[in-house]
Amino acid sequence: MIQDYIDGKWASSSAKNSVPIINPADGKEINSCPMGTEADVALAVKAAHQAFQQWKLVPVVERIQYLFKLKTLLDANVEELARLVTQEHGKTLVEARGSVKRGIQMVETATGMPTFQKGEFLEDIARGIDCVTMKQPMGVFAGIAPFNFPAMVPFWFWPFAIASGNTFVLKPSERVPLTQQLIFKLIEQTGLPKGVMNLVHGGKEVVTALCTHPDVKGVCFVGSTPVAKYVYTTASALGKRAQALGGAKNFMVVLPDATIDKSVATALESVIGCAGERCLAGSVIICVGDETYKQVKERMVKSASDVSIGNGMDPNVQMGPVISQESKERIKGLIQSAVDEGAQLLVDGRKDVDHLPGFFLKPSVIGEVSEKMRVAKEEIFGPVVLLAKVKTFDEAISWINRCSFANTTTLFTSSGPAARKFCSEIAPTMIGINIGVPAPMSFFSFGGSRDSFFGDIKAHGASSVNFFTEEKIITQRWMSDANVW
Ligand code: NAD
Repeated sequence: MIQDYIDGKWASSSAKNSVPIINPADGKEINSCPMGTEADVALAVKAAHQAFQQWKLVPVVERIQYLFKLKTLLDANVEELARLVTQEHGKTLVEARGSVKRGIQMVETATGMPTFQKGEFLEDIARGIDCVTMKQPMGVFAGIAPFNFPAMVPFWFWPFAIASGNTFVLKPSERVPLTQQLIFKLIEQTGLPKGVMNLVHGGKEVVTALCTHPDVKGVCFVGSTPVAKYVYTTASALGKRAQALGGAKNFMVVLPDATIDKSVATALESVIGCAGERCLAGSVIICVGDETYKQVKERMVKSASDVSIGNGMDPNVQMGPVISQESKERIKGLIQSAVDEGAQLLVDGRKDVDHLPGFFLKPSVIGEVSEKMRVAKEEIFGPVVLLAKVKTFDEAISWINRCSFANTTTLFTSSGPAARKFCSEIAPTMIGINIGVPAPMSFFSFGGSRDSFFGDIKAHGASSVNFFTEEKIITQRWMSDANVW
């Protein structure tokens, strides 16, 4: 059973229950994760609250030194971290390495906190009166992570939180908690003062306790939309800061002037990368015009059929398993729903996989998808390409803008004006032009809109300092009757 990390020490959870941590490539149990309790959260928040009293006084240039040390340690352990990600999540080693490196970039960016946390000053807003602003840390922040990026997602938040002078309690996904065990061992090696970073394992009880604890000032969440709503409403009703990134349904539009071969290859990678378990995974590919649809369909069927699946540790494998048997069955059910609703099953990824150990599916390609079908509305989170056809670009834009999710979207085109129109009119807020997974890097902010994001300030980048700090505005006048100096 894995342990929590509270107040600078590894400690056993008070949990009565645990869940197995399963390698999805072979279905075997690797370890188990305690389903922690409110009491564990109370201990972690107490430690973080106490640590905050000193940590907030440490100058920012000293605070970031721990992040520089961590960056070096992370660099030295990329391979071990990536192997853990592959082992507990299933994605290929290439994908796992990429995600670890994206996480490290968050640490690098957060070392810019002396610049990000600067306030403003304006002399003489009125005669003899100046105005100053400063961004002060607030206290304890909590982070709650999903299963699909065991290393990267927590880095979206905590380096920015602690560099700006707050302390933190992290709850990883109970399905993939092992990578964070190693990351916390590396954090420990930096000599970070005890209580600044804490780790509590568990599920709903821990999440609720974090969202309701009086000493937690803000909550950062990434996961499915129903839980994102729950976290956002619970925390914000108690006056806490909350940013909750939810699920997605991502559309890609192919215009007749797109470079079809490259667009299809890019779109397929977007859909099947990480076995479709990315919040930025493409899902519905809307082709404008019959000829575009025909060409995309032909190439997509061929390319998707050629994808090799297997254990992500094998360098020849292009796609690993999905996270669980339950997830596999859910995806199979969604494929069947499309068939039942009249779509055309062009490649059936459910075939020839059940003899494999683990939770494998091959890529599926479904044609003639229409807006009313369940597959066109629900997040699949699996390797299923949906092909649809419309007559005009405006029809494609209207379809996307009617969707309740609005995370990311991509346009394939060689037309500048079309790209400009798309960026201006489309609802999703992370937009790709001929880019399949337009994931904003650490120095930009990350987050969708509508049911894909609840909150105001998005994750990471320079603006995230506003989430983790309270701005004070000081209007000052120095009164003096005589020039004594
Ligand atoms: P999930 O919502 O099941 O779990 C996320 C976290 O919430 C976990 O830590 C889990 O322990 C906790 N949790 C689960 N059920 C809960 C409940 N009823 N009450 C309180 N807490 C609960 O999500 P997941 O399956 O781990 O991750 C996949 C989802 O995350 C997908 O919908 C995906 O789109 C989304 N995601 C979104 C982004 C984004 O940037 N918008 C990024 C990654 C993943």
